[in-house]
Amino acid sequence: MRKILLVCVIGLLTACGNPGDRGSASKQLPADPGPPSAEARGWVDEARLKSEAAGGAMWLTTGGDAGKTHYSRLDRINRSNAASLGVAWEYETLTKRGLEATPIVVDGVMYTSGVLGAVYALDARTGEELWTFQPEVDMQVNRAACCDMVNRGVAVWKGQVYVAALDGILYALDAATGEIAWQADTIVDRGRGYTSTGAPQIAGSVVVIGNGGAEFDARGYVSAYDLGSGKLAWRFFTVPNDPALGQEHPALEMAVQTWDANSRWDLGLGGTVWDGLAYDDELDLVYLGVGNGGPYPQAIRSPQGGDNLFLSSIVALDAKTGDYVWHYQATPSDNWDYTASQPFILADLEIDGATRQTLMQAPKNGFFFVLDRKTGELLRANALAYQNWSDGIDPETGKPIPSSGRADYWNGPRIIYPAASGAHNWHPMSFDPERGLVYLATQEMGNLMFMISPPDVPRKPRRLSAGTGIVFTPHLEAALPGLPPAIQDAVRHLPEFQDKERLKGRSFLKAFDPVSGEVKWQVETSGWWDRAGVLSTAGGLVFMGSATGHLNVYDSDTGDLLKSLDIGTAIIAAPMTYELDGVQYVSVMAATGGGGWSYPNPTSAQYKYGNQGRLLTFRLGGAPPVKPEPAPDPGPVPPPPAQFGTPEVIAEGGFLFMENCAICHSNAKRSNVANLNYMSAGTHEVFEKILLEGLMLPLGMPRWDDAFSADQVRSIHAYLIAMQSETYANEQRGDLDQRDEAVVRTGN
Ligand code: CA
Repeated sequence: MRKILLVCVIGLLTACGNPGDRGSASKQLPADPGPPSAEARGWVDEARLKSEAAGGAMWLTTGGDAGKTHYSRLDRINRSNAASLGVAWEYETLTKRGLEATPIVVDGVMYTSGVLGAVYALDARTGEELWTFQPEVDMQVNRAACCDMVNRGVAVWKGQVYVAALDGILYALDAATGEIAWQADTIVDRGRGYTSTGAPQIAGSVVVIGNGGAEFDARGYVSAYDLGSGKLAWRFFTVPNDPALGQEHPALEMAVQTWDANSRWDLGLGGTVWDGLAYDDELDLVYLGVGNGGPYPQAIRSPQGGDNLFLSSIVALDAKTGDYVWHYQATPSDNWDYTASQPFILADLEIDGATRQTLMQAPKNGFFFVLDRKTGELLRANALAYQNWSDGIDPETGKPIPSSGRADYWNGPRIIYPAASGAHNWHPMSFDPERGLVYLATQEMGNLMFMISPPDVPRKPRRLSAGTGIVFTPHLEAALPGLPPAIQDAVRHLPEFQDKERLKGRSFLKAFDPVSGEVKWQVETSGWWDRAGVLSTAGGLVFMGSATGHLNVYDSDTGDLLKSLDIGTAIIAAPMTYELDGVQYVSVMAATGGGGWSYPNPTSAQYKYGNQGRLLTFRLGGAPPVKPEPAPDPGPVPPPPAQFGTPEVIAEGGFLFMENCAICHSNAKRSNVANLNYMSAGTHEVFEKILLEGLMLPLGMPRWDDAFSADQVRSIHAYLIAMQSETYANEQRGDLDQRDEAVVRTGN
């Protein structure tokens, strides 16, 4: 029973920059002026973003420069001396959830974000805390936080720091003090499953922010606010409104033509812009990375088909008006959680003998796209990883051609490549303009997908509850025995099932040529789940962290490992670099999380050392890293209370638990959310109050009285007591808790 349920859980879960002077030595870069007066703190403007300081001595956007290349011209740390890297300073965030942000450094001050959208301003020389900002978040929002309480960074602009908290409140903070200058509620409907986790994007006179929630019932959009006043300047919805209610802007009149007139408008339809945003100030265009469709199967969403714009698209808007300019749809008729919300890099590339102003993106779907960022013209669409959902690109239309019978899981179970977690995901990639290479973390993996129920079974809207409509599972060989026999049988007959080697899944750091599509080199990481953001530098170095708790430094030309700093905390975020007083520093935030955050990977550093959030900064000749104390063993399972409920009641409770609760409560031994196999007698006593009255809301446990009746809560309780009894009995017999080997899901 347990294995079956585990598989179900997973299914229900989701779910340019200017190259600058080539090879210029860092000493030629303008000297940092030293700590500015408090009034001048956080000064980033158009001139500075175009100066040598961007992506050099300073790191002015989450990607370093205007094009977010995640590349630095600094070379004091290089191949010859990287082996002497050590710790300069460390800052503890006192959190246990994932850290995904890339810090920004302006005039000696580091600004970065963490759990829930907390902001930290630190002295970049010492790590000394200057101020912190903790948003007050109604933890009920956790009902819609599919992928951890993460935040992917701040924007700093003309003395203000912008951050979007998990609950979708956008804050402008005084960069000198952290005090709130203004705040804006970006959520149009609090009854739907919206969150915000991405970094805001400055675009001319506005700051742009999107949201997540396509695994729930969100209808995607971005909002732009006036930088000074915080007033809403414009809003662009990425999927149409119910035609009966009318469309908010003209682009939706075009988009609605690509949907079935009888689409499930009430289900939101997804298309959330939860990460990738970029801005070109000369073209005055802001670029949106639009996410997947919700529910996943088009057969539910838009039964008669259609491309379903602007799902899984790159969309360019006029930054002043929010008017549509162009789009490219990475995955027409998305069925596979193939977001195109991954980070953009804006850079000039030599293509077919001409210099082109390009936009690069590696969305989840296994292609690496290079577009003309002025017109949206498709310039390159090379394969980044093995995929079977498409037969390539139509040379006439530039659109991917759907494969026949290989990814159509609405006709029966299919093993689909790439997996829903994507050939590439949110982990920032880096573009080295000297070498013309993009360095990025890729995943070569498929997953099984099948429908929970046939497409024609009517679906009720489920407010603030996951509603992908499918079951999917990576790591198929481990999960297969727990699947229903009919599914197992169908899977065994799939051609993809015969390729056992490919089924295992692998992850790599790749050096990828975006023009030719060649992989110059690749390095395999510790497992298929092991991916992180990347930094490359003019020192001929590529930096990437690992799940095993190492910050690894590679040779940009060969992929040779030059240094491995063993910090003992898993890393998923991107490192960044800056220079102060002639010293080059490299910083990275450490703590694992994100999609699949509650299903810890048994080989992760989290298992040994826990997941305390840290920000580590390195320099040449620094100290050896100090690993955290080993995480305490959770101890024995407490004796459970007396079991109650008929087998039917327990089974109903199990289903409700898997559908609604297991997205957070994996009950794996080292999960960083309460393991309900370890509930104490006291917790059992107040179990109903926790669910129905929000007793533990301040600690992050939402209330569910809108979703569950008292009887349903009792059935969930009966199921959990049965589980705890089984775990307790296993432990008494000396059996290990199998959930230590829980099948991990990753994605967003
Ligand atoms: Ca998604």
